[in-house]
Amino acid sequence: MSDQFPEFYVRLDTFSSAVWYRTKMGRYRLMGTRCTKCGERFFPPRTGLICPNCHERAMEPYECAHSGELVSVALDDIGFPAHGYGDYLPRVMIVVKLDDGIHIMSELMDLADPSEAQVGARVKMVLRKHRREDNGAWVYGPRFVLDQG
Ligand SMILES: [Zn+2]
Repeated sequence: MSDQFPEFYVRLDTFSSAVWYRTKMGRYRLMGTRCTKCGERFFPPRTGLICPNCHERAMEPYECAHSGELVSVALDDIGFPAHGYGDYLPRVMIVVKLDDGIHIMSELMDLADPSEAQVGARVKMVLRKHRREDNGAWVYGPRFVLDQG
């Protein structure tokens, strides 16, 4: 605790700023990878590994769909938020099936009432504060909101 960082902040892990910098395309634009041989898509990006389907090593960048459908909803209103991820509860944790078939676990934001989150609802990606870096700078990452349009 300090005047500069008023929220409870404990460093349990050592994350390097370089890691956050290198992974920013995944967090800002949901950039994953696609196998150049069979077309299988991966998120998070699968680099330095072979494709589990066809054993091809070459991958190309692939931007995942930014909208999808809720397949699972869980209200997190007990216990503690993960350290460094803010101190607000309740939060609505979701699994989204993106329009290209990729599943992502994230958080549903901007709900007046958590019961608005229903399996099957359309959601779209937004960029929100994700967590604090070691040096206190905010890291931004993908969250989802209900797609009303
Ligand atoms: Zn493949």
